[in-house]
Amino acid sequence: MNADPVAGHAIVQPLSDWAFGPAPRRATRQVRIGNILVGGDAPVVVQSMTNTDTVDVAGTVKQVADLWRAGSELVRVTVNNPESAAAVPRIVEKLAMMGIEVPVIGDFHYNGHQLLAGEPACAQALAKYRINPGNVGFGKKRDTQFAQLIEFALQYDKPVRIGANWGSLDQSLAAQLMDENAQRAEPWDAGRVLREALIRSALDSAARAVDLGLPAERIVLSCKVSGVQELIAVYRDLARRSDFALHLGLTEAGIGSKGIVASSAALAVLMQEGIGDTIRISLTPEPGAPRTQEVVVAQELLQTMGLRAFTPMVTACPGCGRTTSEFFQELAKVVQEHVRAKMPEWKITHPGAEHLTLAVMGCVVNGPGESRHADIGISLPGTGEAPAAPVFIDGQKAVTLRGEHIAHEFVALIDGYVERRYGRAAEPA
Ligand code: SF4
Repeated sequence: MNADPVAGHAIVQPLSDWAFGPAPRRATRQVRIGNILVGGDAPVVVQSMTNTDTVDVAGTVKQVADLWRAGSELVRVTVNNPESAAAVPRIVEKLAMMGIEVPVIGDFHYNGHQLLAGEPACAQALAKYRINPGNVGFGKKRDTQFAQLIEFALQYDKPVRIGANWGSLDQSLAAQLMDENAQRAEPWDAGRVLREALIRSALDSAARAVDLGLPAERIVLSCKVSGVQELIAVYRDLARRSDFALHLGLTEAGIGSKGIVASSAALAVLMQEGIGDTIRISLTPEPGAPRTQEVVVAQELLQTMGLRAFTPMVTACPGCGRTTSEFFQELAKVVQEHVRAKMPEWKITHPGAEHLTLAVMGCVVNGPGESRHADIGISLPGTGEAPAAPVFIDGQKAVTLRGEHIAHEFVALIDGYVERRYGRAAEPA
């Protein structure tokens, strides 16, 4: 929309002028992390991080496996002391014995150079090293320790993520840029200087890594902040100034709906502009909630934006005074949980099922129309309507369900549809 300079009102553009769909992905260098490609023409990769003590091998293996089963394509673990470094190869080995080949990334701060030196098996087992340029070391040691980390990446043939973070900004660089800013004829505001310090911290460190011999195709960059507008500004700038693959995420996003909304708002704007090669949703789990929620949110963000497909999506109306009971909400939940639970199996036995679209609607007002747009949709009876639930398959009314077993019968119809359309037998000879 344009602003009407006279009236100050928005002018709605004709529909034909609107561009639908995200911009093509920005051209970035492609990085191989274990068996996963990030950047270039690879799809946006979903990653996550454990919150177990890495020393707890069994607990960490279980959580990595859970995250992988939920769809995380890369999983990062904390490596903060010699015990956790010693645990890493055992964790990777146990995962392999379970048939889980997910690349495990080591998250290092302060002592990564010592840990990698002390545990060669850890250096070998990890698929990537995450280095925070603000936490590599202080004073003269900083450059030496950074160089040592890059040496290990070269020695073990590993990629690195140079991950700057608002909360651990390189203070010497920030002070230097503040001094330079004071000399400007028109000084920037402090926020802009700090954003520049964050970006420069990542870019300068990446340039140094390249000088030390690490190919640019082995470097992923990130510059995480916790504010939505700041993140958008930082990544737009980062994308303009380099062609490194970018890891995208809002750090310390928060708990519950706040964390989901803030992450989605920031990442959606950037991915719509083609920025971002791998994403992580840094949710604070609600007490008792599974760690895998961050993976589900990342997948749903990518899928609702039309960037990737992971699991059948259920369109459901919000319900209103026309809905007769909670049955409609329960059915939407049962259907979403059923297809999500089936997807790991369908991925192998029924490839393409992730593109299936479903609709669960509460009454006749929008029910039949929305159901016709889905591959399979059901329109439940609203207040005062006959107790019958027409089911639409491929846009045609196929059957009407009644009675107490509607949920069970609808789920069976979904399974039958998946079998017919995506089963191996459905493949052309
Ligand atoms: S489809 Fe019916 S029940 Fe659902 S929100 Fe619309 S009017 Fe209400």
